[in-house]
Amino acid sequence: MILFEDALKIVLEKAKVIGTEKVKLLDSLNRILAQDIIADMDMPPFNKSAVDGYACMISDIHNLLEVIETIAAGDVPVNNILHNQCSKIMTGAMLPVGADCVLMVEHTKEIDSNHIKFTFEKTGVNVAYKAEDIKKDSVLLKKGLTIKPQHIALIASVGYPELMVYKQPKVAILTTGSELVEPDSIPALGQIRNSNAWQLYSQVQKANAIPVYFGIIEDSEEKIDLAIKKAISENDVVILTGGVSMGDFDYVPKILKQNKVDLIFEKIKIRPGKPTVFGIHLNAFVFGLPGNPVSSFVLFEILLKPFLQKMMGSNENPKNVFLPIGVDFKRAKAEVMLWLPSTINNQGEVVPVEFHGSAHVSSICEADVIFPISIDVFELKKGDLVNVRQI
Ligand code: AMP
Ligand code: MG
Repeated sequence: MILFEDALKIVLEKAKVIGTEKVKLLDSLNRILAQDIIADMDMPPFNKSAVDGYACMISDIHNLLEVIETIAAGDVPVNNILHNQCSKIMTGAMLPVGADCVLMVEHTKEIDSNHIKFTFEKTGVNVAYKAEDIKKDSVLLKKGLTIKPQHIALIASVGYPELMVYKQPKVAILTTGSELVEPDSIPALGQIRNSNAWQLYSQVQKANAIPVYFGIIEDSEEKIDLAIKKAISENDVVILTGGVSMGDFDYVPKILKQNKVDLIFEKIKIRPGKPTVFGIHLNAFVFGLPGNPVSSFVLFEILLKPFLQKMMGSNENPKNVFLPIGVDFKRAKAEVMLWLPSTINNQGEVVPVEFHGSAHVSSICEADVIFPISIDVFELKKGDLVNVRQI
């Protein structure tokens, strides 16, 4: 049995990138950048007006100003501004030579068809200067970053219609258990519905890898063996759920070994999720998770998700966010690390949700975060800080 910290370290060391591919800008959302994004020009590319108004010399603002030109966004000004002159200018249009400020149109009045007067005391400059946002040739985004909509704006503004991202691993999901039926069936006596595989499928999807569903596999050595062989040969990662504990029909670790999967660990000092298996085959990485949905949910979030992210070239780690716990917490035994599903109340405090154990799916539905309590920590006092992970 190994510590969670060691298990995480091992899987992150073993994770390897499977390649890169070129995608269109609009297909790059949530993918991980495999190239740096470099500015091909200054932004703004020229001094531009930040408001609709009149471009003039700041020393002239209280004089009667002659309007010599109208400059729309996209125009190149024809005339230079001399003393007591101005050009009518639109937001985003290029500032004419000679002007050093723009009077807001709301702060001016027309005197006649080609003269205006400033009606205010003072003006701001109201100019966005060339290169004040972005300098040509600067690195704007580094490879390893997960692309969000705001990054797409930046990438678009410096002219990348296509870009290199890391490939997404194919992740097979196999769920074992003779008691399981799919959501479209009514369970007979002794049966339950398969919830875990669907949850895992969605977690893989949300993590931006490619889930491949293999269905429910009976607790039969032969059937599990066949499914494992197929999954390993066709996928980069294989996740099995169920059949990894100490029951008479928990065949998964044994069958993995028979299939030349080198088992690196078979148990983690953690609750929920103790019987978690990690193995390496020539063709795929294999994880075995307990069948209980809460265990498998938590282990995916804290172990598999970081692993998949690393396989996709991400250099981002989960943020360390510390919040105070809103209640006292005690436990009788502290030989394993405990992860608790919790809400965050309106005071910004962490409050554990009612949690009956690993099959209690509705508890994680109420939770906003999960947080760990270390081995040998028996109690927490209201106000103690805990390291929360958003779910
Ligand atoms: P196992 O890990 O196979 O020993 O299963 C542990 C518990 O989780 C048992 O109560 C199973 O019935 C339940 N379980 C196993 N697989 C699933 C699943 N796919 N969906 C919901 N519950 C499951
Ligand atoms: Mg089972």
